[in-house]
Amino acid sequence: MNNDIERVLYSQDDIKAACERLGAEITRDYAGKRPLVIGVLKGVVFFMTDLMRELDFLTDMDFIDVSSYHGGTESSGEVTLVQDLSTDIEGRDVLLVEDILDSGRTLVYLQELLSARKPKSLKIVTLLDKPEGHQMAAHVDYVGFKVPNEFLVGYGLDYNEYYRNLPYVGVLKPEVYANK
Ligand code: 5GP
Ligand code: MG
Ligand code: MG
Repeated sequence: MNNDIERVLYSQDDIKAACERLGAEITRDYAGKRPLVIGVLKGVVFFMTDLMRELDFLTDMDFIDVSSYHGGTESSGEVTLVQDLSTDIEGRDVLLVEDILDSGRTLVYLQELLSARKPKSLKIVTLLDKPEGHQMAAHVDYVGFKVPNEFLVGYGLDYNEYYRNLPYVGVLKPEVYANK
């Protein structure tokens, strides 16, 4: 698996430091509140569990599953809801957690979907942000790392469902997905 990686962008230590920094900031901002933390499946599960353990307040969690990639390395441009929340978010302070912001389509879709349900507030944290990929104006409140416009895997990010369990974020060798 490691042989398919061109280079490591963020090591386990880098990611841990980012989770601690983001966790401290979010803990300060939500003082006195009990936000519902919502993760966007599946890529976010690794980041979500690490980030949540840095949040020093009472909180509950839920997940939502959307799909835009359908495998491969390019977004299909269309976002579909695969699995909805099991929690009513009306009147709740909601913190949405994403693995990576690329074109912005997924987050714009989720912002519209969730805002329509009248949460008290909606903030977004993403571990990775690819500024060169932005095509829609998605608003994020907290960012772990700004990343170059390359296809990344590991720490939750997949290529055709593989590589999620790499403990770091790395660049996948283009020959792995060339001619597929
Ligand atoms: P967007 O809708 O912003 O274009 O893309 C967001 C989703 O696309 C992410 O949640 C993630 O699933 C996928 N994605 C975007 N960039 C990458 C990448 O570099 N690597 C992987 N594995 N997935 C990505
Ligand atoms: Mg995602
Ligand atoms: Mg994916």
